[in-house]
Amino acid sequence: MPIEIVTVPCLQDNYAYIVKGPDGVCLIDAPQAAPIIAALASRGWQPDSLLITHHHNDHVAGVDELRALYGCQVMGPAAEQARLPDLDRALSDGDVIGADDAQIVALSVPGHTMGHMAYYFPAAAAVFTADSLMALGCGRLFEGTPEMMWDSLSKLAALPGETMVYSGHEYTAANAKFALTIEPDNQALISRAEQIDKARSQGQATVPCELSLELATNPFLRASNPQIKQLVGMTGAPDAQVFAEIRRRKDNFRA
Ligand code: ZN
Ligand code: FE
Repeated sequence: MPIEIVTVPCLQDNYAYIVKGPDGVCLIDAPQAAPIIAALASRGWQPDSLLITHHHNDHVAGVDELRALYGCQVMGPAAEQARLPDLDRALSDGDVIGADDAQIVALSVPGHTMGHMAYYFPAAAAVFTADSLMALGCGRLFEGTPEMMWDSLSKLAALPGETMVYSGHEYTAANAKFALTIEPDNQALISRAEQIDKARSQGQATVPCELSLELATNPFLRASNPQIKQLVGMTGAPDAQVFAEIRRRKDNFRA
């Protein structure tokens, strides 16, 4: 049975996701309840589980309402349990939910927050990364160190290239402007930026994106590339230091 993934725009620029697989219906994050309830109702679906990526309010504000309505099982990172809505199951790195084609693997990807998790669905070739790896970007380092985030991004980068990356926000157009300041001559990036502008002018989402294209265009994933090191004036520097410099530039960037 094919796995269906529905993108649900929430709040200003957040995305929640609904995954309908062989084991039932699973929600990824709950920025607000109403649009998720509407998306479920229009399909006649009921969620069985809800996976939380991290404790920020724009990812969990709708959790309690959805649980009360559907009685779905709420899971999230054990490392942030004290800062999350009540969890029915607390997850650690490498934990597996479900079996066979319904398998979901919890991947600990700290940096944005200390317990941030991504959820990998091998049978769907999909990974839900929220504010860790984002389309042409990565989350701000609110809690973790650059080394930590670099390790997290490297873990995601090692997934199969055809994996689709579902991040938690529509930030891609601004991320593209920044990425071009790092690599103005990257042809794959230039054409991706054009496609992003076109998609946004038609009100379309730019998420998800295939991991192989992220690897070719996302400056934060490319910190280990000798050409990137040269472009930021850090030839020979350790990967994590180059990543830290790119992150620092992004923090100071105004589109
Ligand atoms: Zn966040
Ligand atoms: Fe967020």
